[in-house]
Amino acid sequence: MLISVIIPAYNEAKGLKSCMEQTVNILKDLEISYEIIVTDDGSTDNSWNILQDITKDYSALTAIRFSRNFGKEAAIIAGLTQAAGDAAIVMDADMQHPPKLLTEMIRLWEKENFLIVEGVKESRQKESWLRRIGAETFYSLFTKTSGIDIRHSTDFKLLDRIVIDQYLALPERGRFFRGLTAWLGFPKASVYFVPADRLESGSKWSIGSLVRLARRSLISFTNMPLRLITWFGLFTFIGSFVLGIQTLWNKFSGRAVDGFTTVILIQLALGSVIMFSLGLIGEYLARIFEEVKCRPLYVISDVEPKRSKKDEK
Ligand code: UDP
Ligand code: MG
Repeated sequence: MLISVIIPAYNEAKGLKSCMEQTVNILKDLEISYEIIVTDDGSTDNSWNILQDITKDYSALTAIRFSRNFGKEAAIIAGLTQAAGDAAIVMDADMQHPPKLLTEMIRLWEKENFLIVEGVKESRQKESWLRRIGAETFYSLFTKTSGIDIRHSTDFKLLDRIVIDQYLALPERGRFFRGLTAWLGFPKASVYFVPADRLESGSKWSIGSLVRLARRSLISFTNMPLRLITWFGLFTFIGSFVLGIQTLWNKFSGRAVDGFTTVILIQLALGSVIMFSLGLIGEYLARIFEEVKCRPLYVISDVEPKRSKKDEK
């Protein structure tokens, strides 16, 4: 049995060493075979030099370096692709995901056969109100529009080999690790933790990059914005109808200025036709979007007689 620990790292020079020490200590105590894969996501500090140094001390460590900053999602995928384990654990490099939880995560996977073990934050760490409100809005919008509840989810996760293979086989390019692992399904267990204070001050994510991430994640999981156009169309039509009747009433009761009625009616008719047409195009666009994402129609978790990789060994 092999466990792969995957650590995306971007400008984590200060914490990498102690992160590695603590993680290795925990894994050693478990007496299992393990590998650790750190993806340096194009750090601009000396993270890479440190990584090169510590690969000499830890034979189980593989370090991958990106040519530039490609983002955490890409760093996770690079790690998962490289991983050979029967299970992989994705963990932050800044020690906000306590390595001591690895023990419990591995136990739940090994002994209780959960295919995904999620780290769940018991409280959000100290953050500015802007980030807090932003996060809350995003999570509630995401949960309501996509039907996938990721409100308590984090990227701190253990995935069984079956899940890793399914995740890597997904053809879509715009990835959202938390959303997609939830979408894949599979039996899940949770372990709870209070995120430790950051080693360095501040998150690596700027407000701008968080907003971009939120927008992309939402759009790849829901057609809601496109559907909204149809509803706007309906409301405009109802509004136009009422206004149209009122305009005609004014005309026939002789209270309308010459020509005014025609202008208003044409405006209203065109307005609703345009809105409806956009809505219609939106519906097709939504379908096309579903198709190009090429998400599988279902995900199989087991076949009888057993054929899963874990059992072959
Ligand atoms: N990270 C990364 N690429 C980035 C930004 C962050 O690989 O472009 C890594 C970072 O080094 C850390 C993890 O992703 O290991 C989480 O980042 P951070 O702690 O800044 O985010 P937060 O704690 O707010 O989730
Ligand atoms: Mg962090």
